[in-house]
Amino acid sequence: MSVLVYIEPIKDKIKKAAIESVSYASQVAQLLNTSVTAIAFNASEETIKEISNVGAEKVLNISDSAITTINIKSLAKGVIAAAKEENVNVIIFSFDGSGQSVAPYVASNLKAGLVAGATELPKVEGNKLEVRKNVFSGKASAIYSIESAFKIISVMPNSIEIASNPKSAEVVAFAPSTDLKDGVQLKNFKVNDDVAHGGVPLPDAELVVSGGRGLKGPENWGIVEDLAHALGAATACSRPVADADWRPHHEHVGQTGLAIRPNLYIAIGISGAIQHLAGVNGSKTIVVINNDPEAPFFKNADYGIVGDAFSVVPKLTEAIKKI
Ligand code: FAD
Repeated sequence: MSVLVYIEPIKDKIKKAAIESVSYASQVAQLLNTSVTAIAFNASEETIKEISNVGAEKVLNISDSAITTINIKSLAKGVIAAAKEENVNVIIFSFDGSGQSVAPYVASNLKAGLVAGATELPKVEGNKLEVRKNVFSGKASAIYSIESAFKIISVMPNSIEIASNPKSAEVVAFAPSTDLKDGVQLKNFKVNDDVAHGGVPLPDAELVVSGGRGLKGPENWGIVEDLAHALGAATACSRPVADADWRPHHEHVGQTGLAIRPNLYIAIGISGAIQHLAGVNGSKTIVVINNDPEAPFFKNADYGIVGDAFSVVPKLTEAIKKI
């Protein structure tokens, strides 16, 4: 019996969310008195080093340059083969874009119970794992019991502390007997301009500066970008802002956009509608800047500034630059 953890194929540096999922897997393995195997695709030496530092004892590496992060079925087939061949009964994913796509395929194939978006380590109750996750847009949390033979958990990014647990991982070139092809090939890949120009990708960002309709128009986004730049933060926006084409859709956060959990979320000129909060209320610290003292977002804020964004934000940026 062992715990398997999924590592998405990436060209550059491994994502923090992936390291968190390995650390989570390692802590689950300690609870179950077993070991952690990682299933990785085209993993670099650097990736293997990073994941063995947080507890991976064995890495099954599938080397196939045709498999990229878009090949969801191929990735799922690789995980299923590894689970069957390694006598695994718990599989851990990160609840990020890749994990959210691959885990359901794997769960359906293995007839596994899946809890998506766990925020804590599970409790072991005999043969069952009890897992807590947030529900109803973060207004409540619930505990689910996974009772199937294969058990799958995906971990909400930025929910758990990464614990150092260095191992010298055994790396195995893994060649599953099943054909991994899924009939999809990546023909073109273009990094969005904001990321290409040194911006921080929103899903990975620990600090986020976000703007809403209170900023009046795209021509005023300079104050958001300047603050984000001073902090080394990513930029985000409310849905009406993306719908109006003031900002690109990949920056839209909320119920119908990205769900993020940064350490710091600064909301500028955003009212705090329930659909917006659904994507950001897991943030560790929320700062709200709004000229309406009755804006609902203040109820969810750790810090609030009642004032005109056009006067407050540049002053904040200048103050941060001096630190
Ligand atoms: P507004 O509600 O117009 O708020 C603007 C705020 O700016 C106000 O609070 C105002 O006081 C403040 N302001 C104005 N001028 C200034 C100034 N000079 N300085 C400082 N503050 C100022 N929304 C999302 O964001 N994400 C979603 O995923 C999402 N999904 C949705 C799904 C459904 C099914 C539905 C029905 C709605 C969804 N919405 C979503 C829309 C949501 O209900 C709100 O309409 C939206 O979040 C409001 O955006 P806003 O706060 O930017 O704009």
